[in-house]
Order: sequence, then C-alpha cells, then structure tokens
Amino acid sequence: MKQISLLIKPASSLCNMRCAYCFYEDVSANRECASMGIMDRQTTRALIDRTMCLDVNQINYCFQGGEPTVAGIDYFKDFIDYVDRVNTGKKITYAIQTNATLLDDAWIELFSKHDFLVGVSLDGFLENHNRLRKDAAGKGTFKIIMSHIKKMKKAGIHFNILTVLSHQLSKKPEQLFEFYQKNDLNYIQLIPCLPTLEGNARMDQYALTPHDFADFYCTFFDLWYQAYMKGHYMSVTLFDNLIPMYLNVLPSQCGMLGQCHMQLVVEANGNVYPCDFYVLDDYCCGNINTDSLQEIMKHEAAKRFLKEKRVLCKACDDCPFYHMCYGNCRRLSVCYYDAHYCGYKTFLTYSQEKMRRIAQMLTVK
Ligand code: SF4
Ligand code: SF4
Ligand code: SF4
Repeated sequence: MKQISLLIKPASSLCNMRCAYCFYEDVSANRECASMGIMDRQTTRALIDRTMCLDVNQINYCFQGGEPTVAGIDYFKDFIDYVDRVNTGKKITYAIQTNATLLDDAWIELFSKHDFLVGVSLDGFLENHNRLRKDAAGKGTFKIIMSHIKKMKKAGIHFNILTVLSHQLSKKPEQLFEFYQKNDLNYIQLIPCLPTLEGNARMDQYALTPHDFADFYCTFFDLWYQAYMKGHYMSVTLFDNLIPMYLNVLPSQCGMLGQCHMQLVVEANGNVYPCDFYVLDDYCCGNINTDSLQEIMKHEAAKRFLKEKRVLCKACDDCPFYHMCYGNCRRLSVCYYDAHYCGYKTFLTYSQEKMRRIAQMLTVK
C-alpha cells in the first residue's frame, strides 16, 4: 500500500512547559525565527490539499511540537473536518506527541472519536520526571500527566510513553523498569537525550553519552528479557526493531540502517524540512503554501541533506554488526558512539544471544 506521513507542528516551538533539556528549544534557537506561531487556516488547508492530490492510499498526519495542543482544540477539529470534507477514499490516520498536561475531557473525546495514537511524554518515576519536566511556573508535571493517562486508559485510547533517556535517568534502569511495570505502561519509546547543536552547558549536563547508553541498555534489556520469558511482553521500540533484524526483517525506525529519509516536517508557517532534528534554515525545502510536495522532495536542500556524510566511529572498521547498523542515525549517533568507543556495539554484543533466542521463538510461533 502506498502511503505518506507528515510531521506537523501546528504550534511551532511554542510550549507551556520548560523541560530542562528541550531539544526543540535548542533547534529553534539555531534558526532566524525561533517560533513561527500557530498554523493558520490557509496553510492548514494547503497542507491537506497537497496530500490529498497524491497517488497514495493512506495518509498519516502526525502532530508534534513544541507542544501541539497549544494550537487549541479548534485547530484540530477544523483540520479533521476539512480532511473529511475533501477526502475521496484514502485511509487517514492521526497521531500526536504531547506533554499531556493540557488534556481535558474534550481532548480525550476527540482522540477517542478519531482513533488518535497518542505519544505521551513522561520521564518515568516522579523524582526523575519532576526534576526535568516542569511547567512554566517551575512546578513538576508528573501528577497531572498520570491522571490524564488514567483517563486515556479508561477511554480506550491507544497511547505509548515517550521517555527521554537522560544521563541522569540512565543510572536508574531498575527503577525505571519497575515503574513501567507497576503502572502497567507497556508501550515504551526511549529517546536518547541529545547534546545541543552549539554546546550549552546548562542543557548538555543531561545528554546521554555512549557509555551511559551501553550501561543502561545492558541492564534494562536483561530486566525486559526476564519479564518476556515469564510471559510479560513490554513493547520497547529499540528491541521491537532490533529483534526482527536477526530474522532479516528491516527496521521501521528511521536511521537504524544508517540511511536518512525525507520525513516532511511541516512548520507552522508552512516551511518543510527533511527531519525533526534538522528544522533549521539551511535545510528548508520549500513551503507548503507555494510548492507541491513533489517540488519539496526534489528541492536542492533535500538532496543535500540526504547526501551529507556522517562521521563514523573507529569501532565501525571491524564491527560484526555493521550490516545491521551502518553507523545508525546521523544525529542520534552522538549518543551511541564517539570517535573510538561505540556503546551501541557494546549493547549489541551483550544482547545478541538473547535477541537471537527470542527471534527463533518468534519464527516457531
Ligand atoms: S514538553 Fe516538549 S516541547 Fe515542551 S519544553 Fe518539554 S521537551 Fe520542550
Ligand atoms: S538524522 Fe536520523 S532521524 Fe533524521 S532522517 Fe537522518 S537517520 Fe532519520
Ligand atoms: S554498532 Fe557501533 S561500531 Fe558497529 S557499525 Fe554500528 S556504530 Fe559502528
């Protein structure tokens, strides 16, 4: 089936929270205009019209930010109404990544009615989350998010947990695993905390290092494996992608085979960029108000982005996992390896036997 996905930023970098390591605050601070405001109706409709005229069977609209709910619920209602009006038979899916602090009953109803997949940012247990993820008044947000998760569960909304794996959290794999289990949180994506683009000591103290990566994942994987063998499966994006690779199944996560892909990230003013990590002036591939998606995908900046060379690690030279990595995602790789040491290789070496065992079990099932 032919499909296309767009990552839409209806509220640009605007957010009601002030997380200590906010990666999009860093990205937007490195361009001429940090915030492009709220996406207006003309841009929203141009975006929908451009996707509707493509020769695809399915369109995936994924909203993120900043904090996308800051655009207001009417923005989303208007978006969906217009899609329903102009759609002539394509399958439509909706997803949103949110800090979940602003979700009232009306949001829950909207997500439920339109079958949104909701990614909720939650940095694990209270002590870690509240230290790193505060609101604009400096107050921790753990309690309110947990209460909104409870409401989503009750409404049957599909959601997963997005946890930023910071240097600090990497020291607590047991506590984190226990927290997920205790709270029956079974769909987890751990996102490495990136160092800033230009170096900012205030934020970089939270960045995940290659050694943190290896130490954390070796322990976390063992806990996950033990639970799996006892019949309790927890979906962890990295493991869900890696294990099938032992059966020659391609990963779905961008960059796991070292190749960049054009992601179509649409900022609030209609500018389009090739990847969420590169929403920077140099990589702007056009504007949805004036350019077709075909023109955007063929734009000089897109071609340059896809061709740019990455810096590999010395350990790649004789790495037995090269065929299932190729240096991985070029932006996240800074959390996986430095010039001489690769934490990803350490983890793959450590986990390979058990991962192969699970892969074999999957083929027998
Ligand atoms: S909720 Fe997201 S966008 Fe907002 S400050 Fe935190 S990390 Fe940044
Ligand atoms: S930088 Fe990473 S996430 Fe972005 S397109 Fe390249 S591989 Fe994918
Ligand atoms: S696992 Fe590390 S050393 Fe091996 S290919 Fe990937 S990045 Fe290179």
